[in-house]
Amino acid sequence: MINLPSCPQCSSEYTYEADGMLICPECAHEWSADIASEKAEDKKVVKDAHGNILHDGDSVALIKDLKLKGSSSTIKAGTKVKNIRLVDEDHNIDCKVDGFGKVGLKSEFFKKI
Ligand SMILES: [Zn+2]
Repeated sequence: MINLPSCPQCSSEYTYEADGMLICPECAHEWSADIASEKAEDKKVVKDAHGNILHDGDSVALIKDLKLKGSSSTIKAGTKVKNIRLVDEDHNIDCKVDGFGKVGLKSEFFKKI
């Protein structure tokens, strides 16, 4: 049995595939999806330094001093960051750090708290 992703529009689980498109029979929404990678990876998982899975809204703490790109400032190890947002860019966490504002950081430098 193939596990297709739920409809992004109405969350229906009865989606089916036709000609490389995914189709929702409940709201008639059609979208393209790379089904092979959906199956292999389901959803992009962001993990902290210890392999714990991170979610939007989690709080994390920095495990080592981190020099900010394009700045002479360093965020100190132990700095706590609340309410992170996961992104899929060259960094994978968007967050606000006290004294630094909005920064993009890599999850491997954090541990979940
Ligand atoms: Zn739908």
